Amino acid sequence: MKIIIAGAGAMGSRFGLMLHQAKNDVILIDGWQEHIDLIKQNGLKANFNGEEIVENISIYHQNDVSSVDFSADLVILFTKAMQLDGMMQSINNMVGENTKVLCLLNGIGHEDVIKKYVPLSNIILGNTMWTAGLEGPGKAKLFGNGSIDLQNLGTDGKEAAEEVIEVLNVANLNAKYSDNILSSIYKKACVNGTMNGLCTILDSNMAGFGETDVADDIVEAIVSEFAAVAERENATLNVPEVLAQIKTCYNRETIGLHHPSMYQDLIINNRLTEIDYINGAIVRKGKEYGIETPYCSFLTQLVHAKEQILGAK
Ligand code: NAD
Repeated sequence: MKIIIAGAGAMGSRFGLMLHQAKNDVILIDGWQEHIDLIKQNGLKANFNGEEIVENISIYHQNDVSSVDFSADLVILFTKAMQLDGMMQSINNMVGENTKVLCLLNGIGHEDVIKKYVPLSNIILGNTMWTAGLEGPGKAKLFGNGSIDLQNLGTDGKEAAEEVIEVLNVANLNAKYSDNILSSIYKKACVNGTMNGLCTILDSNMAGFGETDVADDIVEAIVSEFAAVAERENATLNVPEVLAQIKTCYNRETIGLHHPSMYQDLIINNRLTEIDYINGAIVRKGKEYGIETPYCSFLTQLVHAKEQILGAK
């Protein structure tokens, strides 16, 4: 299958590598010049479960794709949320009337951006439990296992997504169809919407925050705002189940000592965060539906203040 990975950072590199190794015709499109130059020079390097590997995969800067002759069967979107619209504009000429577009970004409401460029019947929304990191430009760090749930947004439903699921599974990416992807997206967004912003602002790992005597109250308040908005979007959340899942993040024996990705982005790497597409999305949608969202609103403001204090880019 001819596949564009649009956004070839940590996750895009993982998916690009695994789909390339499964003999698909893959190209990477990205906007980070240093990363692009190193991949062009040396190939895409990765520490893949402890093994050092290199794969030669074509990569283009998103500003230089107008002359690239590649009509994709599938585009997999892996930008950060705030880069999505720009990327969709850049690759517009490579998205034909039969190109499926799979969005696996974290956060809520990306379909509103994608549908400006792609008919609903070609949009597939997903949620992934794969993880990835970058050791630096040109090199990914890929450990562990994961899975993907996905759903086609058009009326053709499962049938329209079958070929994509097959291609992902041949590459061992463990994909399956979901009849209710919005609920899983909201569920994951609740974990991100609590752990990410709170640990970033409080300068804490997840266990440290979870062990404070106010953790339960704050998390319950945030999750109740997500749940109220989700209900209006027909994405019912099982709140006790979501709260139990968040509590698993506090376990010091498993992931509790980790800092979430937003902390890494902002505090370690001085990069802007996806807060507007997680808690900020709840605030926007809350306004639309007449739902009060004071905790999400305050946390979004705090994260923006921190971005500005640190001069994040
Ligand atoms: P990423 O930051 O690694 O890459 C996203 C984009 O930012 C890429 O275009 C990349 O080249 C660019 N970029 C990365 N570092 C940069 C730097 N220092 N300077 C300039 N540009 C830089 O993001 P990601 O982790 O691949 O995440 C993509 C999407 O997938 C996000 O929505 C994220 O929330 C989601 N996601 C990530 C993970 C994960 O484990 N990383 C897991 C599930 C979902």
